[in-house]
Amino acid sequence: MTVKVTARGAERWKQGHPWIYRSDVAEEPDKTPGIVQAFDRKGKFLGQALYSPKSEIRLRLLSRGNERIDDFWWSHRILVAARRRNGITATAWRVVHAEGDALPSLVIDKYGPFVVAQLLSAGLESVRRDVLEAIKYALEPEGILLRNDSAIRRYEGLASEVVLAHGQVPQVVEIVEDGVKYLAAPWSGQKTGAFLDQRENRILIGHQTKTGGRALDLFTYHGSFALHLARNAKEVLAVDQSAEALARGAENAKLNGISNIKWTEANAFDLLRELERRREQFDTIVLDPPAFAKTKANLERAVAGYKEINLRAMKVLAPGGVLFTSSCSYHVSRDVFTAMLSDAARDSGRRMDFGKP
Ligand code: SAH
Repeated sequence: MTVKVTARGAERWKQGHPWIYRSDVAEEPDKTPGIVQAFDRKGKFLGQALYSPKSEIRLRLLSRGNERIDDFWWSHRILVAARRRNGITATAWRVVHAEGDALPSLVIDKYGPFVVAQLLSAGLESVRRDVLEAIKYALEPEGILLRNDSAIRRYEGLASEVVLAHGQVPQVVEIVEDGVKYLAAPWSGQKTGAFLDQRENRILIGHQTKTGGRALDLFTYHGSFALHLARNAKEVLAVDQSAEALARGAENAKLNGISNIKWTEANAFDLLRELERRREQFDTIVLDPPAFAKTKANLERAVAGYKEINLRAMKVLAPGGVLFTSSCSYHVSRDVFTAMLSDAARDSGRRMDFGKP
């Protein structure tokens, strides 16, 4: 299959961006998803790409060469990505991070001996068999679960499904992260079963927690930050509005023999106000809320929300304390987030030293 792209589309690949949008595709004679050969209008070969006929993101670059893209090709790229992660002090991590590992729209997470993968484009879905063979060969998992229930698949015209593609994958998997154990739920948990994206940060902040101090983990979910904080802190207040999430957190604490975490069901905004009123102070505070800006349209309100929790957290931070703050809103840029923090610091009347982002 071949596709022709405009000069502007070709330029994007030349500049290093792996995507070509619908508006930059000049000719697409065969509208079936798959791997296509891409040419410019003059007929010059540009590379091979995943083709999604229903998506705004029509082409995702796989290779500038003309090699055969089969299960061996995929397994080689997966192995290269896996090798980059050698030495991680955890049993669960993201092995393949899609475009970041030159494997567009493919996410592969490892949970001990099990793999949870996501095929996030129509082009990739059409080579599912090769990709699965490649995962088996490269990672030798006991089971592969496809968490193809991400909303992104809708834009590709793909169904939402969770399917076992190989071997067996249990409902609950015990993970060890820098010596801290927790339970992940590949079939039903958030994302692919746990928030692997904060792995390094959990370890970092765990080590930076003041020994014998007080720590606060807002939006704790299953307590993955709280567990790391609890190793150094005398006591940790772990807060979430979901009782179910907190119950899982408490289970995780039990698994580690940790008893210095106080699990508190509350709205983080209300609780911060209450803590401030009671003049409570914490040496370490973790803010890892859900995405406040789900769309561009509510950006302003989202930033106001971020400012409120950060400002209030700064107010209950003990002198010399550490605030670890984050946002997973795609629409809130690093600059906007940093400016919001400066604003909050100014309003809080506290002098904040901004560490390395
Ligand atoms: N920090 C966690 C992930 C947080 S996910 C980790 O690293 O694993 C977001 C969590 O925030 C969810 O558990 C959700 O129940 C909780 N949440 C959302 N809005 C909240 C609010 N206003 N107050 C308290 N918790 C909230």
